[in-house]
Amino acid sequence: MQDTVFELLSCDAIAKNTYRWILKGDTSQVTAPGQFVNIKLDGFYLRRPISVCDVEGDLLTIIFKVVGEGTEKMAEAKA
Ligand SMILES: Cc1cc2nc3c(=O)[nH]c(=O)nc-3n(C[C@H](O)[C@H](O)[C@H](O)COP(=O)(O)OP(=O)(O)OC[C@H]3O[C@@H](n4cnc5c(N)ncnc54)[C@H](O)[C@@H]3O)c2cc1C
Repeated sequence: MQDTVFELLSCDAIAKNTYRWILKGDTSQVTAPGQFVNIKLDGFYLRRPISVCDVEGDLLTIIFKVVGEGTEKMAEAKA
C-alpha cells in the first residue's frame, strides 16, 4: 500500500445521495480491477475504503453513496 496525496478536481452529485470524485495524482499503484483507495479524512481516525471506478492517466474516479458521517463529509468537499 502506498500513501499518496491526490488533488480533488471535482465533486459532483450524480444521483440521490451518490457522488463522483475526480482526483488527480500518482495513479501508478492502480494496476488491476477490484482495487480500492482508503481515504483519510480530517477529523476521522478510520480511513474510508472506496473502490476505484476509473483511471485514465493521472486522473482517478471514485463513486460513493452517503451512508454516514465520513461519506457526508466527502460529499461536502470542494474542489
Ligand atoms: C473494499 C471496499 C470498497 C468499497 N467501495 C465503495 C464504493 O465504491 N462506493 C461506496 O459508496 N462505498 C464503498 N464502500 C463502502 C464505504 O467504505 C462505506 O460506505 C463508508 O466507509 C461509510 O463511511 P461513513 O463514515 O459514511 O459511514 P459510517 O459512519 O462508518 O457508517 C454509518 C452507518 O452506515 C452503515 N453503513 C456503512 N457503510 C455502509 C454501506 N456501504 N451500506 C449501507 N450501510 C452502511 C454503518 O453500519 C452505520 O450504521 C466500500 C467498502 C469496502 C470495504
